[in-house]
Amino acid sequence: MPRYEYRCRTCGDTFELSRPMAESAAPATCPEGHDDTVKLLSAVAVGGSSAAPAPSGGGGGGGCCGGGCCG
Ligand SMILES: [Zn+2]
Repeated sequence: MPRYEYRCRTCGDTFELSRPMAESAAPATCPEGHDDTVKLLSAVAVGGSSAAPAPSGGGGGGGCCGGGCCG
């Protein structure tokens, strides 16, 4: 379930809520009970992260010949 960040304009606090995407625009109540909140653009990635580079190191292709360990 995606998380959305909101900011309370009454107490200035920010808080996160996990709610269905269909309710992302629904009014949110801050932990202090205020309902004058605004939805912030979430910085939480819900997929679509950049691809990590392929891990390298540890030899490639197998076999230790060439390193001199085979005799
Ligand atoms: Zn508040």
